[in-house]
Amino acid sequence: MKKHVVLYKKLSPELLARLQAEAQVTFVDTTGPEGRERLRQALPQAHGLLGASLKLDANLLAGASQLQAVSSVSVGVDNYDLAYLKQRGIVLTNTPDVLTQTTADTGFALVLAAARRVVELATLVRNGEWTKNIGPAQFGTDVHGKTLGIIGMGRIGEALAQRGHFGFDMPIIYNSHSPKPAVDQRFNARHVSLDSLLQQADFVCLTLPLTAETEKLIGARQFALMRPGSIFINISRGKVVDEAALINALQSRQIRAAGLDVFEREPLDPHSPLLQLDNVVATPHIGSATEETREAMARCAVDNMIAALRGETPPNRVQ
Ligand code: NAP
Repeated sequence: MKKHVVLYKKLSPELLARLQAEAQVTFVDTTGPEGRERLRQALPQAHGLLGASLKLDANLLAGASQLQAVSSVSVGVDNYDLAYLKQRGIVLTNTPDVLTQTTADTGFALVLAAARRVVELATLVRNGEWTKNIGPAQFGTDVHGKTLGIIGMGRIGEALAQRGHFGFDMPIIYNSHSPKPAVDQRFNARHVSLDSLLQQADFVCLTLPLTAETEKLIGARQFALMRPGSIFINISRGKVVDEAALINALQSRQIRAAGLDVFEREPLDPHSPLLQLDNVVATPHIGSATEETREAMARCAVDNMIAALRGETPPNRVQ
């Protein structure tokens, strides 16, 4: 008899057919206030669970007594209780690599948009307020040749370094647990301490995972270390940053601007003080959100699930 997979993210017809050839598939819509409860009710029959962007804690999974595999359509695994899954012997997989370049593109889009005030000034044009040539009050700051500081030199960090070094002639400094000699060589990059990076970089970009170690890694002390004209970019996870401290640093112009794809709470509250600030470019967690990349991620997640249900080692096993 076929095993049962509960989907909480829609798949394209092609990928759905591929999964259905292997398993009985049920889709659960987890949006809205009743969404979690609908998922809870579907869990007792699930051998596999495939989706993204939902906190799957021990409380929710307790009723999933037959669960063998969770396939996340994401590279970050901060939505899962790793210790609990491990203790129950449930396989967890993710979708690295296929989203790396697209997420780095998003990072660089935020670098350029924040530095050149693209959103603010495009809004001015749209509002019919372009009545004379713009002057120094609307000037941005250069990107090329400025120092790019990358916190988290993994796959996405490296793709960001590639863009900065080859495309914009930017000196690259980075912080990660350990130096990366191949990165140093390829991009003429330097591994530095976190404090030193904050003091030297013109652009500080977060590309590291949310873990117990990185939660609120960047707070008031770290913003105080940053250069007055510097720009802060976050394409990792909102909770790596103390958002109140970020708001304070932006309001007081302690830093120049921020480009933010991720927030402490998502969706971002429309009343957030961040949205009152001209020097903030905010995007709705679109790091990997292109048609091609989202389909590639879903394909990767389906392949991981099929392998796990067959008892094989999935291509992207986290644990
Ligand atoms: P990765 O290849 O595992 O790279 C993560 C890097 O972070 C590693 O090089 C690691 O350093 C470093 N790191 C971890 N903890 C650190 C710490 N405390 N201090 C300094 N560096 C630390 O992961 P990736 O594929 O690049 O993805 C990174 C993260 O981006 C994901 O976990 C996810 O949260 C986020 N992301 C966001 C979006 C979006 O839509 N905005 C899209 C994709 C990914 P070592 O190698 O030295 O241990």
